[in-house]
Amino acid sequence: MGNLVAIVGRPNVGKSTLFNRLTKTRQAIVNEEAGTTRDRQYGKVEWTGQEFSIVDTGGWVVNSDDIFEEEIRKQVMLAIEESDVILFVVDVQNGVTDLDEQVASILRRSKVPVIMVANKTDNNELVYSSAEFYSLGLGDPFCISAVSGSGTGDLLDLILTKFQKKVDEIVDEEIPRFAVVGRPNAGKSSIINAFIGEDRNIVTEIAGTTRDSIYTRYDKFGFDFYLVDTAGIRKKNKVTEDLEFYSVMRSIRAIENADVCILMLDATRGIEGQDLNIFSLIQRNQKGLVVVVNKWDLVEDKSAKVMKEFENAIRERFAPFVDFPIIFASALTKQRIFKVLENAKEVFHNRTTRIPTARLNEEMLPLIEAYPPPSIKGKYIKIKYCTQLPNTRVPSFVYFANLPQYVKEPYKRFLENKMRERWNLTGTPINVYIRQK
Ligand code: GDP
Ligand code: GDP
Repeated sequence: MGNLVAIVGRPNVGKSTLFNRLTKTRQAIVNEEAGTTRDRQYGKVEWTGQEFSIVDTGGWVVNSDDIFEEEIRKQVMLAIEESDVILFVVDVQNGVTDLDEQVASILRRSKVPVIMVANKTDNNELVYSSAEFYSLGLGDPFCISAVSGSGTGDLLDLILTKFQKKVDEIVDEEIPRFAVVGRPNAGKSSIINAFIGEDRNIVTEIAGTTRDSIYTRYDKFGFDFYLVDTAGIRKKNKVTEDLEFYSVMRSIRAIENADVCILMLDATRGIEGQDLNIFSLIQRNQKGLVVVVNKWDLVEDKSAKVMKEFENAIRERFAPFVDFPIIFASALTKQRIFKVLENAKEVFHNRTTRIPTARLNEEMLPLIEAYPPPSIKGKYIKIKYCTQLPNTRVPSFVYFANLPQYVKEPYKRFLENKMRERWNLTGTPINVYIRQK
């Protein structure tokens, strides 16, 4: 399972600058992602072949000029609960402040490894100033300059050493892992209860390692599946979950460890920013998607026309990814609960679709011939052959072209749509690559 690093600290110490610096290590890979998650909130870092997720808690402080000590305190506590390593950023040019001391006193009591990062160490003299941070009782300050990048490589090395070896939970790869995600009050707990019944008849509880087990296996209505992060759901605390920060932290964990995400929307509320943020997390992690429009029992006009309008609105907001199931359900009355599981299972299978090369070429090459990529600067672009890559997370296809650099995004989307028309890839992201032949 993935590791999660949280950046904490008072405003203006350079958390956001550090976040940008660290996530740049992977920009080449992530730049294609269309996302609405504010970039400050969540990113992926790749360093010496290892990947981890990182969140900047500062991304949630609405107005960073207003220092809400209480809010920062809460965020630090939640970061402790949810992350594997904490980067506590302080500002050497400013020295120790009261707020630094308050944050440090919370961190000293935590069991999560903390790295105290002395930022804005732009020159060697400032290294001496960093000594005053020893007084915070969190060991050696680690000197960096987020602006220039000095020290950040060593910091990444250090972060990797702090991840505890997690004994991989043994899960059966054949059995789908579902995560129920969505903003507070969308009905996540209710639908989970509907899935597993009041008796909560757990088939197997796998012993977790560093924290409670994140996978719980259920065998219900003829479906065999794992629900991800049910431990977290069980100990859910309404007060804290109302913070967007908290629900995003929770979502990240659940999404990263799932095959298919069941995204709960509230029919009485429509789609809001938080829904899009969670959708974007699912997309960025290339997970399968089933959208549930929950609380359908509360909607008076359930005509086909209203449903269609609802569907269109959702697909419009989630575009360009539009090929996923939308189920109108009620966790309360259990209407279409079965259908949700059925669709989640189908999406799981679609993620593992293998299209034989011969079939792929047979279908796609005549289409490409009829609608070739537009020629650029008088140069004709030819695609002669395509194939699916083996052993990828989601179905991934390579099209070989004479001038791959001239095949643009709209044409890739055209290829994707044509494949989706021909094969059942509903609910799964796919990758289309153009390479040199
Ligand atoms: P945050 O509120 O903790 O996220 O802080 P920001 O990342 O927004 O940075 C606050 C200010 O400190 C900005 O003006 C940054 O340019 C500046 N800053 C960040 N890192 C450094 C650094 O390493 N050296 C110097 N001199 N300034 C920095
Ligand atoms: P969570 O915060 O996403 O886990 O949401 P909950 O499952 O706790 O549900 C929030 C509120 O919405 C509770 O009062 C539920 O009883 C109610 N609720 C959930 N699903 C439905 C539904 O399908 N119909 C109706 N009418 N209420 C629902």
